[in-house]
Amino acid sequence: MPELPEVETVRRTLGPLWLGRRISGVRIARRDYIRASPPGPLARALGRGGRVETLVRHGKQLAAFLDDGRAILIHLGMSGQVLALGPGARPARADHCHVRWSLVGGGSVVVRDPRRFGGVWAYPTAEALREARWVALGPDALSVRAAALARSLGTSRRAVKACLLDQRVLAGVGNIYADEALFRAGVHPLRLACSLSGAEVAAVARAVRLVLRRAIEAGGSTLRDFVDAANHPGTNQRRFRVYGRAGHGCVRCGSTLVGGLVAQRATVWCPACQTGPYGV
Ligand SMILES: [Zn+2]
Repeated sequence: MPELPEVETVRRTLGPLWLGRRISGVRIARRDYIRASPPGPLARALGRGGRVETLVRHGKQLAAFLDDGRAILIHLGMSGQVLALGPGARPARADHCHVRWSLVGGGSVVVRDPRRFGGVWAYPTAEALREARWVALGPDALSVRAAALARSLGTSRRAVKACLLDQRVLAGVGNIYADEALFRAGVHPLRLACSLSGAEVAAVARAVRLVLRRAIEAGGSTLRDFVDAANHPGTNQRRFRVYGRAGHGCVRCGSTLVGGLVAQRATVWCPACQTGPYGV
């Protein structure tokens, strides 16, 4: 499932084609993929006639803000792709393409999503989008500082990994990067959030920023079908230190990595490098 680095990779690779371009038309192949829109014609709500001024990401959500104030939100869900196509180009796979924005002067942007857990939302203003979608989210994980993370974690008695996965606590981290960050911070995923020292919270914030930044540099992680807007897969999956490596040796100390369920998600940690939940 695309997490923050994958959505940021899409944002960066989409920009060169979409920014500054006017939308000449919107083709909607699946009406039910448009999750919400203001009253009025759908193509108009989805930006027809507008020019894309900025592409902004918060957590795992991507928004296009238009010159006339309208805003479009794209959520990739489990298998969503946003493809930037040059003039005359067609998607490598034509199935599951739910929305297509045609651009004045040629080229188009297509949202493709085989499993359809994602969606596209239209808002009359950027403010309305932020209000509806982003206000309830925690700080963006790519730039989160120790103080903000400490505030967000508060005195929660949940496992720290469950907190990192909760988008209201921290926006953008999913199962892969939560495990990678906790390993780098040396914190066991089952530790109660309230038991972390200030130094440990700072280490977690630092590790979250680091693993996300490195993943963006590698173009994201491709486990199944993630591709950027230019249809290239990421390579960060080659760098995982714990995710998917239960039973293998820890890259730091050689101990056998342990797998288990935390917050109902498959979780991997090093029993030696990550300080246990009971101070062991
Ligand atoms: Zn280790």
